[in-house]
Amino acid sequence: MGSDATESREAQARIAFLAGHDSLTGLPNRSGFQDALGTLCRTVRTAERPSALFYLDLDGFKAVNDSRGHLVGDRLLRAVTARLLAIGEPHSLFRLGGDEFAMVVRDLGRPAAEALAARVVAELRRPFQIDEARLEVGVSVGIAYMPDDAIEPASLLMRADLALYAAKADGKGCWRTFDPSLEERVVRQRQFDLDMRAALAADEMELHYQPLVDMRSGRVAGFEALLRWNKPGYGWVSPGEIIPIAEATGFIVEIGRWALRRACTDARTWSDLKIAVNISSIHVRMPGFHAEVAAVLRETGLAPDRLEIEITESVLLDHGPEVLENLKRLRATGVRIALDDFGTGYSSLSYLTEFPFDKVKVDRSFVRDLQGRPEKVAVVEAIARMARALSMSVTVEGVETRQQLDVLRDKRCDIAQGFLYSPARPVHEVAALIARIEGAAPPPSVSASDPDGSPTADARPVLSLARAS
Ligand code: C2E
Ligand code: MG
Ligand code: MG
Repeated sequence: MGSDATESREAQARIAFLAGHDSLTGLPNRSGFQDALGTLCRTVRTAERPSALFYLDLDGFKAVNDSRGHLVGDRLLRAVTARLLAIGEPHSLFRLGGDEFAMVVRDLGRPAAEALAARVVAELRRPFQIDEARLEVGVSVGIAYMPDDAIEPASLLMRADLALYAAKADGKGCWRTFDPSLEERVVRQRQFDLDMRAALAADEMELHYQPLVDMRSGRVAGFEALLRWNKPGYGWVSPGEIIPIAEATGFIVEIGRWALRRACTDARTWSDLKIAVNISSIHVRMPGFHAEVAAVLRETGLAPDRLEIEITESVLLDHGPEVLENLKRLRATGVRIALDDFGTGYSSLSYLTEFPFDKVKVDRSFVRDLQGRPEKVAVVEAIARMARALSMSVTVEGVETRQQLDVLRDKRCDIAQGFLYSPARPVHEVAALIARIEGAAPPPSVSASDPDGSPTADARPVLSLARAS
């Protein structure tokens, strides 16, 4: 009887433990966290040594889980847990679910809490070795202080979540502390995010097409697809506003899939012209990207050598093996890869030998005041010479005047893109555009201020994306 009672007490204790703990990592779970947060908020604290709530969300975990499978994903979560526990500062760690964790740091004060957050970020940035796989994730951290930011568990959590959202929006792999201005910014961004998703679903996003013109023959070689959103009751929203938010939330991948399918479908009917589609680094880093493109080509019937994928060099910063794999596989099917906005970022020349690019697109900042700027001309000329040596063609963006075109042609650039020929226009204008550009009529002198110019030129900013400090 006595041993029965012991067994039943043990079973009850076990059940109680399981109810409050996560079976994968052994950490207290969300319910354990709620209890701890309640206790924390009931304790009287002084503003001199506030306690902190860290809200952690792994960056890139979903990609690992999707590509390597759940077993590897589970082991990665355990390895993450071990690293967080090994940091050794006085904190309690909780797994809230999925790839979300929380840390409660009592009475540490701000400077020490922030140093701890920096360590958390640095620890999880180091690659994880799971069997033969070297896995890279990272973590974004949002911090809210008790009692400074909130004294109620729910609002403390909400504020740490807002700070986390800001950390994600600021490029991930960093920590941010709550501040009241975040509240408004994040509420607006979340609304914008919802509106964007609804717009894509309701077919309110469009692709407009900007001609790419062969500088020597004057013939249209292809078009670049550029995202346009005519937000009802608002007006044109530029990609410059859509893309940072869509990248922060991951929605950019859906935009990329949609844009690929739409552009390939539209281009199917344009005899043999090329179609260039911009793809975000986030998307190119996904292991199955090459297969997605192949599927779209099959479904739409577009010949692979008519598709160009435009990527920016940010994809090559801290890239994993997937990037090279995707680019090589795509190229093997005949799809071309262009390096966009060349000359604006790090422009590490090693990228050009490491990766199989077919084309560089010289950023328009090099063209802006080409006249009377021999140093700019010299840079463009050097890029063109280098590209030729590496068997890449050179497109120059932002060509707005005849004079610029003449200089660039003289320096042996290949393709011009810019308002000189046309801004991006809706699909139904493509045929007329080609006829006009290739016809006898000289191109009208379109400029950035032209009322018929790119919607970008007159799009009002919806959001100010001022960075949180
Ligand atoms: P980008 O790929 O470098 O595209 C060229 C940008 O330069 C476009 O801006 C185009 O309208 C603008 N532009 C072209 N010619 C001229 C010119 O002569 N003068 C001036 N001042 N501007 C010119 P847009 O459409 O605002 O796009 C901005 C960026 O947003 C693009 O730069 C691209 O990186 C990104 N983007 C656009 N559409 C998509 C998309 O569907 N997916 C992704 N991931 N990114 C996109
Ligand atoms: Mg582009
Ligand atoms: Mg560009």
